[in-house]
Amino acid sequence: MSVTLDLSRVAPAVDAPKPLINLSGLTRPQMVAALTESGVVEHGKAKMRATQIFRWVHHRGITDFAQMSDVAKETRARLAEHFTIARPEVVERQVSKDGTRKWLIRMAPGIEVETVYIPSVGRVGALCVSSQVGCTLNCSFCHTGTQALVRNLTAAEIVAQVQIAKDDLGEWPSDKEDRLLSNIVFMGMGEPLYNLGQVADAIEIISDNEGITISRRRITVSTSGVVPQLEALGEKTQAMLAISLHATNDALRDELVPLNKKYPLDQLMAGIRAYPGLSNARRVTFEYVMLKGVNDSPDEARALVKLIKGIPAKVNLIPFNPWPGTDYQCSDWAAIEAFAAILNKAGYSSPIRTPRGRDILAACGQLKSESEKVRASAMRKLSMAAMAGVLDDDEDEAAA
Ligand code: SAH
Ligand code: SF4
Repeated sequence: MSVTLDLSRVAPAVDAPKPLINLSGLTRPQMVAALTESGVVEHGKAKMRATQIFRWVHHRGITDFAQMSDVAKETRARLAEHFTIARPEVVERQVSKDGTRKWLIRMAPGIEVETVYIPSVGRVGALCVSSQVGCTLNCSFCHTGTQALVRNLTAAEIVAQVQIAKDDLGEWPSDKEDRLLSNIVFMGMGEPLYNLGQVADAIEIISDNEGITISRRRITVSTSGVVPQLEALGEKTQAMLAISLHATNDALRDELVPLNKKYPLDQLMAGIRAYPGLSNARRVTFEYVMLKGVNDSPDEARALVKLIKGIPAKVNLIPFNPWPGTDYQCSDWAAIEAFAAILNKAGYSSPIRTPRGRDILAACGQLKSESEKVRASAMRKLSMAAMAGVLDDDEDEAAA
């Protein structure tokens, strides 16, 4: 029996346009390769051309090839056939009375992340970025952890969070002096070390001297403790390290940060001690969420001092942010202060900072009917609390 195939039906798929590559997510060497492969730029000129384009995109912040005035018109048109430098859509923007800004960014249909800028954190102001939508880990006190991983963000999507903040802050061209956005923290949604390739590329792009030029020492990556990736993080990115510790013994940490069952405290502490570049000028930050009656006793503060002995470190005490359905409560202020006093006495800087931007948090908390926005509002609360304390000024000066 013969079968006749109607090929006309599948024909359009053959002609479907190739998706455009987003140049914003390519490091300079990757851009050289992409320009050569596309045939738009001849091999001998690719390095020079890539630097020129990189400067337009990351130093000037342009979003349209037509603005590249020193690139021939014909080349610009050919670039636009293969590549894009467009931004994702900002679906919501809010500014708090205290200057905190938040953007809800739609990377793709159903892929929304929130990015938060807090002034007066770090040298001038810090941006909290996400590395994943959702998270595979299930830390018991974290709202993001109750939501499944949707997907990893690409380097372009991570860089876009910085570009959008700079658009809004009026920070183009990206000069070193007088900038509002001085620090970046990977403390938004997701576990950055489960997306290290894209996070490392994004850090290379953000810190490149031809572009946004935020020094690697002003970029902090927070992890729940993916021990086998710590060395690679240090070597690939030279970023500052923050560890979500939250407990000083395995039994409690297994409960709070279940990843601890895989990489228990002795392995974690050994991995931290071996973190490349750790020194008094480049201290690790231990994040410690203050949970009433769970991990906030003076004995636990003393155990913490013992655990981190000898590590150039500071401790960031984060008042717990409650969310609907959680059984945890935030420690009393007196307990937090008593905890901090024990750390301070042992010589550790341990800032406690009240989350800022509460006025706009409240407004956004009303958007709970839609799942994407629940995710976003949860992430915002976490990042605000965590970021507000992670960069104290003396650390930053030491890094400068
Ligand atoms: N996944 C990474 C980075 C994102 S979470 C990590 O876990 O380190 C950023 C910080 O917010 C972490 O220290 C996390 O433990 C903390 N956090 C999570 N839920 C919180 C909550 N409800 N209140 C206060 N801090 C929280
Ligand atoms: Fe994931 Fe970090 Fe939340 Fe844990 S604290 S669930 S690792 S985002």
